Amino acid sequence: MYSADEIIAQLNDLAEIDRELVRKAYVFAAEAHKDNKRYSGEPYMTHTAAVGYKLAAMGMGPRTICAGFLHDTIEDTPITSEQIKQEFGEEILFLVEGVTKLSSVRYYGTDRHNESLRKLFVATSQDIRVLIIKLVDRLHNMETLNHVPTEKQERIARETLEIYVPVAHRLGMGKLRKELEDLAFPYVYPEDAKRVIELLTKRYGNAKEILERERKVLQKRLAEVGLRKFQTSFRVKGLYSLYHKLKRKEWDIDAIYDLMAMRIIVDSVEDCYRSLGIVHDLWRPLPQRVKDYIAFPKPNGYQSLHTTVATQSGTILEIQIRTKQMHQDSEFGVASHVFYKPPAVSDTVKQPSMFTSLIPSLFRPFQESIPKESIDKSVSITPHPQKIPRWISQIGQTYNADSKNPTSEFVADAESDFFSNRIFVFTPTGDVVDLPVGASPIDFAYAIHSEVGDHTFGAKVNRKLVSLDTELKNGDIVEIDTRKSAKPSPKWLNFAKTSLARRRIKGTLEQDI
Ligand code: MN
Repeated sequence: MYSADEIIAQLNDLAEIDRELVRKAYVFAAEAHKDNKRYSGEPYMTHTAAVGYKLAAMGMGPRTICAGFLHDTIEDTPITSEQIKQEFGEEILFLVEGVTKLSSVRYYGTDRHNESLRKLFVATSQDIRVLIIKLVDRLHNMETLNHVPTEKQERIARETLEIYVPVAHRLGMGKLRKELEDLAFPYVYPEDAKRVIELLTKRYGNAKEILERERKVLQKRLAEVGLRKFQTSFRVKGLYSLYHKLKRKEWDIDAIYDLMAMRIIVDSVEDCYRSLGIVHDLWRPLPQRVKDYIAFPKPNGYQSLHTTVATQSGTILEIQIRTKQMHQDSEFGVASHVFYKPPAVSDTVKQPSMFTSLIPSLFRPFQESIPKESIDKSVSITPHPQKIPRWISQIGQTYNADSKNPTSEFVADAESDFFSNRIFVFTPTGDVVDLPVGASPIDFAYAIHSEVGDHTFGAKVNRKLVSLDTELKNGDIVEIDTRKSAKPSPKWLNFAKTSLARRRIKGTLEQDI
């Protein structure tokens, strides 16, 4: 069990008064839960301490960490809201109550799916920190799911995939999303998980060695050509996202080019493009695999340069090049904009999951390596506000968790902006589609699949026929009617909002000329 001091040690610049607050909440929670046990038989506090630890490691502030310790007290112990308010103040109570409220959001199967999701979003639109605590709570519950009675495991894992993963994705929290996915995957699709692991082990049992070797080659070259400050690291694709890709590629693992990825993290956008040139000079790039997500970020804000190369030894590698700020954004998403302090690189190392024990050589955490001579650790991270999507950058500017005036109007403004620039709509089967405000059924259709977009004939919103330029609203259930003969019309460009839809419509129209 993590001690209070271990947790405090994650936040080195903490003022004495905040240290005291964290210690007090830790002791208070341990006392409150003293009669509770986890399914594993361990004291309940192992869970709340782990949640606090993870929040601290992510760089969240002292009040968020306190709320992490206390998040189950109201629900599972005799402690009342009044007591928490008295001991810890209104802000911490607000966070604890927010998390408690979310516990009532439960996934009972596809028919309740839509409603639960909507409730979740509405309930959490109050404060992003509530959502972050809840996601971290779920992460620890997933890490310890093997102790939970078998009949409950699948429901919890499915709920994780159906509700928590989309939320983490929506918030741009890539690292947490991957962890949740890979933990839930074998419980929900046990046969498929086995198949993916077998395939991966058979084909790339020595992935780590390969990556380690190629990394040295890359590091040497980057240093030779005089790139002064860089970090390299690598990852093997997450099992669950690999599974989805395998299904699309008829289970041909050799058709998957991003299975192994090398990352280069540099100080500036200029160095990103420079590194791309160096990589293409070192290794042969595969045609049409260069993607510039720096100039054209993904809808959830993700930024990076991607390319796929074949190394001298014939390994296919995806190379991802980004600045430190972009890296943090992609790992922590919105959380990196409410950081109390950015987490140290070593903090991004993942706790061992069941996969690390299954195939230890493959699923090591993301390994960071910093050549001593070529990196200055004190380099500060310069955000590029113009490149961060408006809804994220506004939170970053106006809202710092645990700031002096946390309940200011800023918080309310930033969060209403965050939740008001995007909408969530649903497919008839309950899948969530995340779109910008003002999006139309055409945007929805292209978000589902380009083929659906290209052949859209009509649309229904909440079971009623609507025109294709109808503005979608939060919670709408959208159904697309396709016809083989239908094709994009120039008129669609008058109301299509997403770049994905617009690009595709223009492309198809040009083909026709
Ligand atoms: Mn909990």
